[in-house]
This record gives sequence, structure tokens and C-alpha cells, in this order.
Amino acid sequence: MRATFRLLVLACALLGVAPAFAQTAPQPAPLPDRVARNLPTLQAEALSSDMALETVTDLVTQVGPRQAGTEAEARAREWAVAFLRRSGFSNVRVEPFNVPAWDATREEGAIIAPIQQRMVTAALGGSAPTPAGGLEAEIVRFENMAALEAASESAVRGRIVFIDEHMMRTQDGSGYGAAVVKRGRCAPVAQSKGAAACIIRSVGTDDNRFAHQGGQSRQADGASLPAASISPADADVLTRLVARGPVRVRLNIETTVTENAPSGNVIGEIRGRERPDEIVLMVAHLDSWDLGQGAIDNGAGVSIITSAARLIAALPGQPRRTIRVVLMGSEEIGGLGGAEYARVHAGDTHVAAAESDFGAGRVWRYRWRFDEAAQPYAQTLRAALAPLGVVADANAQAGGGTDLRGVNAAGVALVDLNQDGASYFDAHHTANDTLDRIDPAQLQQNVAAYATFAYIAADTDWVFAAPN
Ligand SMILES: [Zn+2]
Repeated sequence: MRATFRLLVLACALLGVAPAFAQTAPQPAPLPDRVARNLPTLQAEALSSDMALETVTDLVTQVGPRQAGTEAEARAREWAVAFLRRSGFSNVRVEPFNVPAWDATREEGAIIAPIQQRMVTAALGGSAPTPAGGLEAEIVRFENMAALEAASESAVRGRIVFIDEHMMRTQDGSGYGAAVVKRGRCAPVAQSKGAAACIIRSVGTDDNRFAHQGGQSRQADGASLPAASISPADADVLTRLVARGPVRVRLNIETTVTENAPSGNVIGEIRGRERPDEIVLMVAHLDSWDLGQGAIDNGAGVSIITSAARLIAALPGQPRRTIRVVLMGSEEIGGLGGAEYARVHAGDTHVAAAESDFGAGRVWRYRWRFDEAAQPYAQTLRAALAPLGVVADANAQAGGGTDLRGVNAAGVALVDLNQDGASYFDAHHTANDTLDRIDPAQLQQNVAAYATFAYIAADTDWVFAAPN
């Protein structure tokens, strides 16, 4: 402690006032006896249960990749309905909606001059096809989107734009927000300057030879350029060649588009014994990109939230309130399932909500968004999560994820259980998103954290945020 600070604290103590910077968090509200008794059992069960690993294993084995609006996503819904029913959920149902489905049936890229070398290439979601047989053009390289935005049309016209921006590796995944801009914006901006196509260094943190898929803003911007990502190793090759002279690349992309393809959200509930109309909501998405298996994104989330609910259902007696799990469709093409859920369920009483969509790394941080009067409950949750190694962070409020955007906008109380994302973007949206990326012990810790939140919210009558 610095001397001046110590003096100030001493002066405040003598005057009987608390210095503003020394304000302490409110005392935790005591848990009802039954909840306090059950919570250690619930956490111990979660930390030793194979339930989540079995669930994600079954999903990626029985269904595999399941791109939004495809027949594979429809099979994932069938799998989910059967799984929820046999796992004891009630009110299991599909809430259908339609989406513009897009699929790549060919996604090839190659350097053709001054050397010939194939590039590991993934068409970006919503990409236009190339002309039949592909297109060839000279590369023009930019360090980032800002450089492309600033470029003259004469530098870009007729060429294939290459955005070479790297992504920062961070524990909280915050590097993604900056890096993903090029995925959404490259094609429309390149198109406005007369480019032939757009390729980007994959939005990812690995240095492997996997390309990262992902959506772009074609639908919003009406862009019609072919757009693709290439693996980090191939981006390195391009960069070295461009430094030595002109480089020509061939892209060959074929796609199918179905404007009104079926998608849907799958819902299951653990009904509350006293207040069944008050809902504690947990969401994860069922769809995935299709190069990998959709294990970390987001089979993990599906397994975490459903296991948390099942372990609570296995406690003696039902919780007071209803726990609802929603396995969202078509998250990857713009959070369409989450938007549909918020629209259909705007009149429901949501007590609190949490989303799992950041892989299976251990939960390290807890954030919340509660009313002022509910801050003691936030401290109860903090204390309950602490034995799991989760730290509370009051510096920012919880914000949910893509599938909670609509629920978030409606002012529902939110809890974020942030997973360690330091390695998440190594395999995210790649062929390497496979079951072996999931660490069973870390998956169990996730289940324990989500179960802790859902149980405390569902087996009390606490109000976390006043209804709108
Ligand atoms: Zn996801």
C-alpha cells in the first residue's frame, strides 16, 4: 500500500466514512436451505459425470457436420428431439422457421504463377460462385481492411484482393472481433472497387494448414463476389511471393443457394414445481460449419447446457422454476434461430439467461447483468462459482452471445460464464474442429458452472431483473 493511500484510508476510518474507492461489494444473499444442501452434490456430480462427453460424442458421430438450412441440420433436429425426450425433458418440440441456405460444393484455390501450388481454401458463407471452371487474376495484397478501404480503384480493379491481417491470441477471445471484420467486409468493399474476387488470411490463431470457414455479409450488402479464406500457411506463401513480384491465383467456387430452406430451434424443459411459467433459459446452437464435425462449435455447448439441466433434474424434487434449454438453428449464418426465439417468446417470463458458444475450455470468468436490488444475488453466485475456479468480474456487465441478442435487447437478466478461449480459434470453423479437441475434465467443469447458475436461479424465487 502506498503511504498516501494508507493515510487516506486511515483518515476515512477516523472520520467514519468509507472512501469511494474502497467500496465493497454487497454481502451475498443466503441460499435457501434446500439449495445450500443440494449445491455441493450437484457440483460434485457435474465434475465426475461423463454425460456431456457422451452427448457431444453422440451428436458428432450420429449427425456430424450440420450446416444451417441443410438436410444435415434437419437430421440434427431429429437427433435433438429424440435425445431430449429420452433424457427426461418435457415439452420437447421444434419451432420451425425458414432461412436462406447456402452451401459450397467446390472450394478450390491455387497459385498459378510464378509457381504452381494448391492453397487450402474454404469458400466464405454466402460467397458467389466463380464463373464455371474458375477465375484467374493477379493478387493485390493489403495488410488489413483499412488499407483496402483506402486503396484506389485503379489498384484493385480486375484483381483478386488478398487481406493478410493476422488475429491476436487472447484468453477472452477479444482478438476475434477485430480480425473478423475482414471476413464480413472484404467482398463488398472489394466489389465496390471493381475487384474480381476476395481472399482473406483465415480468421484464426493457429499456424496450421487449415482454412477457417465463416459467414460474411453478402446478404446484407448484396455483394456478389467470390470470397474465400486460405490457411495461415498458404497466406504466408502468398505474402512471400507478393514481396518478390506479381502473383497470379486461380479460384474455383461452386455453390448452391436455397432461399427458403427449413431450419428450426429445438426446445426442452425441466418443469418447475412451483412457478412453471418463470423460465431460466440456457441456449447453445445446433448448426455448424461443415469442414469439421462441429464439436467445439457448438456440440460442446449443446452438451454443457443439456447436462446441466439433467443433473439438476436428478436432484431430489424438481426446482421451483422451469429450466428451458434451446438448441438454436442457423446461428452461423447470422443468429437467425436466436432472433426467431426472441420474437416467438417475447411474452415469456425469463428469469435469467446464459449462452454456451465458446468451445469447451474451462470457465474462468463470471459476469452478470442484474438490477441494483439483485446485486446480493450476484455475490451469492460469485461465492458458489468460486470453488470451480471461476473469478467474478464486475468491470463489465454480461452480454450473452449471438443467440441471446434478442433476449438481451429485451432486458432479461444475463449471466456470462466465459470459457478460456486462448486456443479456441486454433480450430474454430476448420476441418480440425473435431471431438479430440475437447478436454473431458474441462467439459465437466463447464457443466458444473452452468448447473450452478441454473440451479440457483431456478430453485429460488429471486428476481434478478424487473420484468419490462
Ligand atoms: Zn458457435
